[in-house]
Amino acid sequence: MTALPVDGPPTPLSRVVVRAPGKINLSLAVGGVDGRGYHQLATVFHAVGLYETVTVQPSDVLTLSVTSHVVGDVPLDDSNLALRAAKLLQERHGVTAGAAIHVDKEVPVAGGMGGGSADAAATLIALSRLWGLRLAPDELRRLGADLGADVPFAMLGHTALGRGKGDDLSSVLTSGDWTWVLASPGGHLSTPAVYGRFDELMLEIGREVPRIPEPDAIQLQALRSGDVHLLGQTLHNDLQAAAFSLHEHLEDLVTLAETSGACGAVVSGSGPTIAVLARDRDHAHELAGILSGSGRVGLCLVTEGSVPGAKVVVEG
Ligand code: ATP
Repeated sequence: MTALPVDGPPTPLSRVVVRAPGKINLSLAVGGVDGRGYHQLATVFHAVGLYETVTVQPSDVLTLSVTSHVVGDVPLDDSNLALRAAKLLQERHGVTAGAAIHVDKEVPVAGGMGGGSADAAATLIALSRLWGLRLAPDELRRLGADLGADVPFAMLGHTALGRGKGDDLSSVLTSGDWTWVLASPGGHLSTPAVYGRFDELMLEIGREVPRIPEPDAIQLQALRSGDVHLLGQTLHNDLQAAAFSLHEHLEDLVTLAETSGACGAVVSGSGPTIAVLARDRDHAHELAGILSGSGRVGLCLVTEGSVPGAKVVVEG
């Protein structure tokens, strides 16, 4: 008689590593405020090749360490989005185990590129595995949305339309890859401060925002057809004027990119990172040279989109 294999308890994991991308917003239309205080958005998210890498290992308690390749202060207390993600998972699923969480940052801090959201997304996925919860992608996205509107997109990746507060996502079909120069004049912009300034500006000029903003159909068509010039013309951000008024060097940088032959340039999210669209990699390096040579940029790098969302890279 052959002995049947017996399913024992799964071998506990000693390490899970998850990588999640940063994002830029190709368009961001801002509408009215809903009952919970959130502005209604129609935004096109685009995942780019800058990554946050989160490593989790078993521990009795929750601990956090961070290494960073970018400037900017990352909180190490309970406000850190990786720790908040871990605590949310513990609470919702009655987990008593802890974990040692390490975040390796490549996405600029407070730059409008969703680095903290990528950390939260990667931590939820990594701990769901380390703690044996094995949550489905939908459930992870729902938990992510409770932490921040950009978190579900860091899980989904590629290019997607975000409605509602940005977490109601539908994937957007794109043709080919897109090459970007990401540049920042340095400094940080607080997202709530930029939305606050946007509200003030709308009052000042007496402009009513639509209750529910509409996505840009021409931009979606440019993405579908792979038309880099059309995409460049459709880059748009309703928050841009507010970001310009809060950061004295930002408008000059966008103007410089636009007058240096870029297909288009736009402030990403609440800034101050700007996304500059190039025809190809050679063109991107040429633009990066001009922007860096101006002495007006603190950060300038060339990257591609759209890249996949959060991915497990090591589990064992
Ligand atoms: P937002 O998601 O608010 O648009 P952002 O994309 O501009 O933000 P992030 O780097 O995500 O920028 O961080 C915004 C703020 O969130 C930081 O100033 C920081 O105080 C706080 N924060 C909390 N957790 C993290 C984290 N893991 N990494 C970076 N910042 C974090």
